[in-house]
Amino acid sequence: MVNIVIFGKPGAGKGTQAEFLKSKYNLIHISTGDLFRYHIINKTSLGLKVTSILENGDLVPDKLTIEILENEVNKYKKTSGFIFDGFPRTINQAKKLDEFLNSLSTQINFTIALEAEDEILLHRLLKRGETSGRSDDINKEKILNRFREYNYKTLPLKEFYSKQNKFFSINGVGDIKVISQRLISIIENT
Ligand code: ADP
Repeated sequence: MVNIVIFGKPGAGKGTQAEFLKSKYNLIHISTGDLFRYHIINKTSLGLKVTSILENGDLVPDKLTIEILENEVNKYKKTSGFIFDGFPRTINQAKKLDEFLNSLSTQINFTIALEAEDEILLHRLLKRGETSGRSDDINKEKILNRFREYNYKTLPLKEFYSKQNKFFSINGVGDIKVISQRLISIIENT
């Protein structure tokens, strides 16, 4: 089994590259953002709880996030691995993920961050907001709040996974296919 975490600020291209890795390595792609948006669209009780959190660009509390992640992983009894997109986003989530995967006799193999400057990301998100229907992509202040959440809560994961020798970062700017090649070279040459 190979389990990969894709990191990156909002707009870094996690979803796009996760879809690519999913088909190349036959993995299950789990995006916690997509899971929350599914619940919001379907107005489930979880969806109602997190609607305003996503709208404001804040992080959903760890307890709810870990629960939704574990439930999703548990749906797949047989798989060659997972690609986690947007999870973990806090140290606590990362610790819980290690424990959880350990209990399934598996582990994270690589964590890869897609790097890009805020200005580029802001531009990408506002552009995406024109067609995505995502309310968190339309407002500059909310986008900047998502960047702040990333800097405060998610960036410390770099040290967490570096200590386990599992952290890699690549340039997330350029042609999509070229960025995919950068990911492949980490996965296949490490
Ligand atoms: P992006 O990376 O572009 O912000 P995502 O779809 O990954 O898009 O996340 C959208 C929103 O979903 C986040 O702003 C946050 O509110 C919520 N979310 C997703 N994953 C997590 C997580 N692991 N922990 C807490 N909140 C999360």
